[in-house]
Amino acid sequence: MFEELTCTCGGCERELAEESLRLVYRTAGGERRAYECACGAVTVTVAA
Ligand SMILES: [Zn+2]
Repeated sequence: MFEELTCTCGGCERELAEESLRLVYRTAGGERRAYECACGAVTVTVAA
């Protein structure tokens, strides 16, 4: 399984670029990245 460098909006399935990245924080479960899409939806990804 390889790591995906891009992710997709949960609302409109648009690809989310680095410029959409709003927040990065670490938890015990890994790094969380919150992306805000142009459509207004916020998508959170988890990377260990
Ligand atoms: Zn969207």
